[in-house]
Amino acid sequence: MRLRSIGTRLTLWYTAVLTLTFLLLESATYGLLSYSLSQEVDKALDGVTRALASQARSRSTPFFRSDIDEAFRRFFGFSPMDRYFDMRDPRGRLVPEQPTSPRKLPLSRETAERASQGLTTFETLTDIGEYPVRIVTMPIVESGRVINLVQVGLSLESVLHAKRQFLISLAAILPIAVLLAGGGGMLLARRALRPVDHMATTARRISGEDLSGRLEEPGGGDELDRLAKTLNQMLERLDIALQQIRQFSADASHELQTPLTILKGELEVALRAERSPTEYRRVLTSALEEIDRISDLVEGLLLLSRSDVGMFRMAPRRIELAQVVMEVYERAAILAQKQGVVLDLGTMEAVPVDGDPEWLHRLILNLVDNAIKYTPENGKVTLSLYQDDAWAAIDISDTGIGLTVEEQEQIFKPFYRTEQASSGIEKGAGLGLSIASSIAQAHGGRIEVDSRPGSGSVFCVRLPRVSQQN
Ligand code: ADP
Repeated sequence: MRLRSIGTRLTLWYTAVLTLTFLLLESATYGLLSYSLSQEVDKALDGVTRALASQARSRSTPFFRSDIDEAFRRFFGFSPMDRYFDMRDPRGRLVPEQPTSPRKLPLSRETAERASQGLTTFETLTDIGEYPVRIVTMPIVESGRVINLVQVGLSLESVLHAKRQFLISLAAILPIAVLLAGGGGMLLARRALRPVDHMATTARRISGEDLSGRLEEPGGGDELDRLAKTLNQMLERLDIALQQIRQFSADASHELQTPLTILKGELEVALRAERSPTEYRRVLTSALEEIDRISDLVEGLLLLSRSDVGMFRMAPRRIELAQVVMEVYERAAILAQKQGVVLDLGTMEAVPVDGDPEWLHRLILNLVDNAIKYTPENGKVTLSLYQDDAWAAIDISDTGIGLTVEEQEQIFKPFYRTEQASSGIEKGAGLGLSIASSIAQAHGGRIEVDSRPGSGSVFCVRLPRVSQQN
């Protein structure tokens, strides 16, 4: 079974760890209690035996029961019913006239041997009665000679009983402690995870249509806060991207609508009456121009949407950039001549790059085309190619209308045209620079612009240069 709730899993882990801790703690306590109980019993038994042994040394009369009771009372605080006492001679035979135990205490050979050497022995015997009996066998030594052995014993019934009672109490406490721990753990987990539930509810309300909603940050400065912050940042980025897409679609529709409206209007007017072949020709030529504009626009849009998803179909290979620049120069020269603008060549170095020559041709031509378009008659456009560190740099500088700093920040956005450009005679959809920038990026490069209104602009394309060794 897979537990789907983190809260339940946390509670179970918490309870399991706590139960294990309790068990370890209880085992340790029980062990400690057993040890100290046996130590206590041995200490008291030793006391009783020593007292009786020293009495035996100083008296000639046999012991009475009351003497033994008295000795036990001194060391145990009471005289137990199931106590044992035997007195033996050095050969291990019971000394008569002594108040012996109800059952005779055994004397093993090893114990007798140790006693003959003057050593005391502590043993636990299990075969005397119902319960184990702890026995001390102590020699009475006089002038270096063992004259008698004292044996004192105590049934361990009460000790076992105390231990069992303790065990029962521990067993009773354990489930209560586990229940309390589990309950506490559950409450804790619920409390800790409540903000997550809250976030999930809010997140469910944020839809694709409206990404303006944000998650509430719990404010504890903890992981959940960081999670909410990260998700909010992600929502912000998605929101911006969605707005851009919407703007793009709106602009694209608008740009397509204008030539279509013109086309429709012209054709409708032409159809209203009978026209001469020359007039039909004029209308059809104009319609073709509008269709060209539409098809350029659609091509540009397709290109941009492909570049957005990284689907530029490129065939990169090692090329000499100067060759591409020269091809563009030759093509643009005619255009420049028509506009009355001088197209010049500046520095022209040999720089090899890895790229698709057709795309790069398009990129440079776009910029040169713009430079000519936005430069008044008698102006000058200069094309240069040189190496700049790890880059191949192509500069397209003009003496045209120039751009303000604000305009420079906007010009690479699709459909953006400066006011001056929109009001001028030059038609354009504002896609050229977006496409140029996408081509540069697809080659691992970028386009920089430096411009001042009224005194011209320099557009610099930077592409990664291949080093001569490669
Ligand atoms: P367009 O089709 O309008 O030329 P672009 O994306 O190529 O579209 O250029 C966007 C805008 O940037 C132009 O409308 C124009 O306002 C401005 N621009 C581009 N190149 C130049 C330049 N060399 N000098 C001045 N303005 C320029």
